[in-house]
Amino acid sequence: MHAVAVFPGTREVRLVDPPEPRPVTGSQVLLKVLEVGICGTDREIGAFEYGTPPPDSDHLILGHEALAEVVETGPDVTLVREGDLVVPTVRRPCPHARCRPCRAERQDFCVTGDFRERGIKAAHGFLQEWVVEEEEHLVVVPRKLSDVAVLVEPLSVAAKAAEQVQAIQRRLPWERARVRALALGAGPVGLLGAMSMVVNHFDTFVYSLEPAASERANLIRSFGATYVSGQDVLLGELGKKVGTFDIIYEAVGVSKVAFAALDALGPNGLFIFTGIPAHGGSNPVDTDTLMRNIVLRNQLLLGTVNASRSAYELALRELEQAMFLFPQSVRALMTHRVPIQKAPALLTEPGGIKQVVQLAS
Ligand code: BGC
Repeated sequence: MHAVAVFPGTREVRLVDPPEPRPVTGSQVLLKVLEVGICGTDREIGAFEYGTPPPDSDHLILGHEALAEVVETGPDVTLVREGDLVVPTVRRPCPHARCRPCRAERQDFCVTGDFRERGIKAAHGFLQEWVVEEEEHLVVVPRKLSDVAVLVEPLSVAAKAAEQVQAIQRRLPWERARVRALALGAGPVGLLGAMSMVVNHFDTFVYSLEPAASERANLIRSFGATYVSGQDVLLGELGKKVGTFDIIYEAVGVSKVAFAALDALGPNGLFIFTGIPAHGGSNPVDTDTLMRNIVLRNQLLLGTVNASRSAYELALRELEQAMFLFPQSVRALMTHRVPIQKAPALLTEPGGIKQVVQLAS
């Protein structure tokens, strides 16, 4: 069978031929992988800047944004059935008894760092034709969403942030004006974040570098958000020119840009970092202004990574709503679908919005 793997030792990314999985036992499920989305994390792994193979392997099979079909179930499986469409979660708990979050099935908050992530850290991923997975890590998706369900994993990052926002903003119990929210960046994470904000009835803005007359800007307007181009408004002037925001959802992964946007965060605002910047040089930040604003405006800066099962379920509901409200815009996110043979090249050729590897249909 085919799979795509990175070999950090020899700095290669290529197709490999792993053994067919053995018959499933216990609560295991055999999955036929249908589609796998490619994201910035995969590209970083493909550039040997991130990612770790399993301990006994010289390579890591990529792929963490997957859609698959259940083909066979072990005798103890009760949650899924043959023929179900499923999206697997990414992170697996660490083995330590002292890690309360992992023991509570909240490995997205693991405190030891010894978690594994399929296709990213110490566990092979889903960019292969067949995969065996424990049923507890699978989220069933309705067939009606089959053409867009590969977006559930990247949307789960925004959904986890939404859960956090809800919990944190309980500190503001009075009835508030309509929330003004900004997605910083118009890549797949920013666009999905913005769609999630629209679905949640926020007054939604997206700020990015593309011109106001670009296709990307049109796409953003098509689902009801307002696009602000960096070519028209400098980031440092965003707050003054467009108004401040109650929530800023960072999706650029460039710390200099993220911190420059902090100025547009309003009173009692929440700034959510989701990007993982590559290690670079140091950037000057005016820490006095930063700290003054954070204190005097009751602001909160929040990092969020990975997602729990409940966030996947929320992502699924949000995707359903988005498909009801603006199906064409959701479909337009997936700009490329390629066969597995072309997947290694995809990692070095970014382009379009979301690139999807199609393994079967
Ligand atoms: C994935 C997350 C993962 C994170 C860090 C992201 O691309 O969506 O599931 O936790 O990378 O490895």
